[in-house]
Amino acid sequence: EIILRVEDIHKCYGETEVLNGVSFNVRCGETKVFIGPSGTGKSTLLRCINQLTVPDSGSIWLNDEEVTHSGPLINQFRQKIGMVFQNFNLFDHLTAVGNVEIALIRVKGMNKADARKKALLELSQVGLLDKANAYPAELSGGQAQRLSIARALAMDPEVILFDEPTSSLDPELTREVLEVMRRLARAGMTMLVVTHEMGFALSVANEILFMEHGKIVEQGSPSDIQTSP
Ligand code: ADP
Ligand code: ADP
Repeated sequence: EIILRVEDIHKCYGETEVLNGVSFNVRCGETKVFIGPSGTGKSTLLRCINQLTVPDSGSIWLNDEEVTHSGPLINQFRQKIGMVFQNFNLFDHLTAVGNVEIALIRVKGMNKADARKKALLELSQVGLLDKANAYPAELSGGQAQRLSIARALAMDPEVILFDEPTSSLDPELTREVLEVMRRLARAGMTMLVVTHEMGFALSVANEILFMEHGKIVEQGSPSDIQTSP
């Protein structure tokens, strides 16, 4: 069953064609990993899917509903498609539990008591319950990234986008974040991941898509990719 369809997306910045006709379908529960040199439009692609950027042409469909521009419905839409960024995007003045709670209160309109309960549950899912009252500055990069994953999960999204989630982390912290993502993939979360972690791609992805110059130049399952010359 197809949950997300991306059809012929084009995006230019000035003279530069950053996305040059990108199309793919995502099935429910699937993990797709995007690999490619820096500057080939991977981040722009995720930003188009999450409506942080508007494509020049092409369309994006979630469950057969066009979501290329949601306009006033964007808040509702962003609950369905979560995003995890390279640099965490946390509120520094809020504790770990506060960062998750505020999203539940503001976006889902939950009351404070329910939001706190759900926020603690999400923190436990990523192994951060003991850091609930710590501020982002007191967390390691790996803990901060797991917190931003917990915040995305708290929205009960249908799809989560990961934009180079480990590229600011050293190898040990990278491993702990990838482990959380691996568990999510196994649990059936639908995920699109931009990463340079080929080991993760080969062991977790249902499909690996290679991008160059704003296009998908090759795509296949990890076994197709490992056996191709
Ligand atoms: P990748 O994620 O593959 O590294 P990006 O999507 O981040 O690639 O960027 C692709 C190209 O688009 C880069 O040359 C980048 O500088 C340019 N770019 C991205 N966002 C903008 C923007 N808002 N304005 C102008 N150029 C941009
Ligand atoms: P990443 O590489 O983590 O995807 P970037 O550092 O490329 O992020 O981009 C961060 C922000 O800057 C994004 O909003 C992106 O659209 C914007 N941006 C990237 N490149 C340019 C550029 N050449 N001109 C203007 N804005 C840009």
